[in-house]
Amino acid sequence: MKDNSPRSLLRNEILGTISTCVDSLRYDPEGLEAFAKKVKELSNSLNSDAVDSNRKVSNVEDIQQLVGGSLDIEMQCSNPQGIRNKCCGKSRRLVGAGERAVEKSLKTPRLCRTCQKYVTGHDSRNCKKKRSVE
Ligand SMILES: [Zn+2]
Repeated sequence: MKDNSPRSLLRNEILGTISTCVDSLRYDPEGLEAFAKKVKELSNSLNSDAVDSNRKVSNVEDIQQLVGGSLDIEMQCSNPQGIRNKCCGKSRRLVGAGERAVEKSLKTPRLCRTCQKYVTGHDSRNCKKKRSVE
């Protein structure tokens, strides 16, 4: 199975670059040593970042940069600090209620000229007051 995801291609590119460098430095022990030192420095800087409490989150951010997309949902789900409940289990009901509230607030109130009020459910053409008058 061939993995053609951007992440995998980038990984291959990194490995290929390192491999090429190591190959070309085969007869250059000093150059190879300097290269090894640089790689170790890189590795150390990555490791010191990973010591950070949120290794999972920083991984997600790294992957996010690699794939150039947003992994917000996965990040919330994999966050170990209680945020997990936001996407799973009993709080799903609350999300639904929130969505309905947002939907409702998106409707811009219109002035109904028949009842002289700003309303969201109708306008002057289908106002109940007008109908009852006619
Ligand atoms: Zn009205």
